Amino acid sequence: MTATILIVEDEARLGEILEDYLKREGFRTERARDGLRALELWRAAQPDMVLLDLMLPELDGFEVARRIRSESDVPIIMLTARDEEIDKLLGLGLGADDYVVKPYSPREVVARIKAVLRRSSGQLLAPEVYEVGVLRVDLARYIVTCEGLEIDLTPAELRLLGALAKDAPKVKGRPELLAASGDADRFADERTVDAHVKNIRKKLGQCGEKLETIRGVGYRLRA
Ligand code: CA
Repeated sequence: MTATILIVEDEARLGEILEDYLKREGFRTERARDGLRALELWRAAQPDMVLLDLMLPELDGFEVARRIRSESDVPIIMLTARDEEIDKLLGLGLGADDYVVKPYSPREVVARIKAVLRRSSGQLLAPEVYEVGVLRVDLARYIVTCEGLEIDLTPAELRLLGALAKDAPKVKGRPELLAASGDADRFADERTVDAHVKNIRKKLGQCGEKLETIRGVGYRLRA
């Protein structure tokens, strides 16, 4: 993955957490803490995407987005704290590609980034395709197929299945699967994993038989 992401966030700690997380995911990053610096960096670094907080010193995020949009189609994901901001955002028609409401988990932001990059320029994402027999999990494009038929999974279900497929037929414990699903930062506990697995099995149809429960340990995908 070689995409460069410009992070515009005036809260230093939030910006750092996002930057660390994105770097670990293989992105290059630039970071600005006010609107004017954001525009400077946007011109200088030519990022593949802008993560843009709305409430910023100097120029606010609305104005930054407007100026970027007047010159470029670069994907923009807004980081917003309040519902009123979302209403204003949508009302202004600034051409943001997506928005994430605070408090967000970095994992959620990364999922949105990947989804938006996939729509705008899929070649920026490394392929992450895992095949277990007739089951195929494409983590970068969020597509699961069983014998070529597309299965409709939620993002959390897909990430969980992807974690199992990646290391099949290795057994994975519930804590690891919970983290992989991306639910770990919310109200989820390990029973959430069981609920996801139940849903996945049902949706997978005949491929669901591959998803085995290993009593007292966790789950695995049989090769
Ligand atoms: Ca802010």
